[in-house]
Amino acid sequence: MAMFVIGGVTIAYASAYASTLKKKRFTYEKAIAKWSDLYFCSRCDGVFTAQSNFVPAGYMNNFLNQ
Ligand SMILES: [Zn+2]
Repeated sequence: MAMFVIGGVTIAYASAYASTLKKKRFTYEKAIAKWSDLYFCSRCDGVFTAQSNFVPAGYMNNFLNQ
């Protein structure tokens, strides 16, 4: 009986972990896709894409994860 409980908890934990990973991976892939479209302007020290406005370089991480 204890084994079943431990097994069930492990499976529940593992599937919760898998869905967390899936979400993280989705966030990561979206950020990477955005990042690959970035242009950097060294004169203004910021980034932008063809679809978005200029973002100061210090805010790039926020921008990528939006
Ligand atoms: Zn510029």
